[in-house]
Order: sequence, then C-alpha cells, then structure tokens
Amino acid sequence: MNNIYLDYAASSQKHFDIFRDVITLLEENYANPSSNHKLGKFNNKLLTNSKLSIAENLNVNADEIIFTSGGTEANNMVFNHIANNFENGEIIISDIEHPSVKESAEKLEKLGFKILTLPTSSDGIIKLEKLNKLISNNTILISIMLANNETGVIQPIAEVVKLAKQHNILVHSDIVQALGKIEIDLDKIGVDFASASAHKIGATNNFGFLYTKDNNMTPLIVGGGQEKGLRSGTSDVFGAVVFQKCLERSINNIKDLQKKKDYFLNSLNANNINFEINGTQQNSLPNIINLYFKNIQAQRLITYLDVNNIYISGGSACSSGNIKGSKIISNMFDENRAEHSVRISIGFDTTQEMIDFTINKIKQLETNILSRGI
Ligand code: PLP
Repeated sequence: MNNIYLDYAASSQKHFDIFRDVITLLEENYANPSSNHKLGKFNNKLLTNSKLSIAENLNVNADEIIFTSGGTEANNMVFNHIANNFENGEIIISDIEHPSVKESAEKLEKLGFKILTLPTSSDGIIKLEKLNKLISNNTILISIMLANNETGVIQPIAEVVKLAKQHNILVHSDIVQALGKIEIDLDKIGVDFASASAHKIGATNNFGFLYTKDNNMTPLIVGGGQEKGLRSGTSDVFGAVVFQKCLERSINNIKDLQKKKDYFLNSLNANNINFEINGTQQNSLPNIINLYFKNIQAQRLITYLDVNNIYISGGSACSSGNIKGSKIISNMFDENRAEHSVRISIGFDTTQEMIDFTINKIKQLETNILSRGI
C-alpha cells in the first residue's frame, strides 16, 4: 500500500487539479493585479471575484475580508489591533487556542494587558457559565476558536457572542479548522473577527484571511497599500483563486467526510479495538478523530503506523514528537490519557481501503501488545 496520509488537520493533501486549472488561467496573465493596464486589471478582477465568492460562502461582505499569509498572520493582526487601540484591559482566551493566539496574547500581557484563560471541560467544550465568571467591566476581547485542531470539537461561538455583546466585548474566533468542514455563517454567529487558512482545505500554504467588521483595522504589515492599506504586499492571485475553488469543493464534500469518519469509528468497534473518543462527537468536525487507546502508547502507535507508511499525529503538528502527549488531552483528562491518545484526521483523498488497512494495523499492534506483552 502506498502512503496513507491521515494528518489532514496538520495540512491537507492539495487539490492539485485545481492548482493546474488556475496555472492554465494565469499562464498568460502574470501581471501585478495592482497595475493599471489591461493585464493588471484582469488579474485584479480575478482577485476581487475570489474574495466575493469566499465572502458569499461565509455570508459576509467582500470588503470585510482581508487576505493574509494565513491563519497565524490573521490571529496576530487581531491582537496587534487590540494593542494599538486600547491602553490596557482584560482579554479572555480558551486553553485550547493555537500558539498563534496564545503567544499573541502573551505579547499583550507584556504590554500590560491582563490575560485570563478559560478552561475546557472533559467533553472538549468551553462552558458559558465559566466564561461569564471571567468577564468583568475591563474585558475588551474574547478569543475562542470555532473548532479545535486536536479534538475537532466545535465551540458554541454564537452563544459566546451573545454573552459578550451584553457587555460590549469584542469577539474573535479562529475558524482555521472549521472552514470548509462545517457550514459557517459568520454574519449569524456575529463575531467581530475571524481568522482562516487555505492549506487546511487543500489550497496553498501561506494564504488565508482575516474577517473583520472594523473599518479601522490596524495593519500589521505596511507598504504598498494593497488590501485597502490593511495588508501590504503584492497580492497573491494564484493563492486567492485556488483558495476560492478549494473552499467551494470542501463545502460540497462535507457529507462525504462525515461518512468516512463514521466508517472509521464503526470499523474500530467492529474490530473490538479498545478505544475511547476524546471530546464529544455530538458537535465535532467531520474530519478529526481523537482516540484514546488504553492498551497502546501514542508514540508506539505513531511509530508503528509510520513504519507501515501511515501518517497520523500525537496532537497538533507543533507538539508532535512530544513524548508527554498532547497538552490539550492532558488538560481535558490527565497525562496518562494524553500519552495514549492520537489524532487521526481524514480528507477528500481518504478511501475505505486506506481506513481498512489502518484499522488492521492498529488491531495488529494491539494484539501484539496484549498477547506478547510487548
Ligand atoms: N489556527 C489553528 C487552529 C490551526 O490549526 C493552525 C494551523 O496549524 C493555525 C491557526 C495557523 O494557520 P497557518 O498555518 O495558516 O498560519
């Protein structure tokens, strides 16, 4: 069997057919989209249309989307904006945020802002009562991701916004993992800021956007004045058009992903493998499965599968290789459970045959450990 890639949450397999189509489109149209000649204007139109389509898919206006180099930059932009517009105040983030949110918050802490961390419960969900207790008259921003990158658990962001708006607090949500995996209506959810990334949905690395309702957003990168002066740097027409097309395809693929995830979990059960799921399944992404194997250490499983050309992860890409296991699972349960938990994330290229082969290998390892004690 060739490589079996089950680490889509770290980065998706690319939709290379879309890449090829867009290359063909741009082969004769390589001009700078800011140039004022026919070729430039043609590319500018492509850029505008891709933004319109992305905005439409999220039920927002195109002028509320700022293209960036990805989720990390978009997250940084939000905290930079807060630092520029407030002298001090309190910021609440959840304990499952991506490092680009956590470290942005830590930067603000050094500037005198107070950072409060909201813990998640063992089902992987933040609790509104706990959030309510952390809110004070000084709270200026709440930043909670829409879905977690390790458990896939979806957070109640619309309810967070309702609570925050009673106190006039800004809300940011990192939607990097949720984008293209669930239907997202940003207008209905009501957040002030949302960050997204292209490479999680099969588009290019180093592309994404920040959604903001704020007309006076503080630019993080200044220069040529692209993106209405909010994000300078020559626009990436290729990245934008590929992103638009990958998003359309991902949204059409949601039901198919869910079927594959259900098949994976049903097969684990059918093979009598001793496992539990980390995080609620009622409200989770259709592509991420976080599994606790009582009889198998995570690192052992990752290595065993790797030898068999199957690629999974111990948590987020940033923390893989960490023998102690995922901090998020550790916080939800304990260190022992984290050391026995792995993330398997599927995608458009995952086949039933690949799932069968993987489950077979997991069963093989569990049987070896139980029968020989090794
Ligand atoms: N936020 C989350 C939840 C992520 O999973 C990631 C990627 O790992 C990022 C942000 C960073 O996005 P990017 O890789 O586009 O900078």
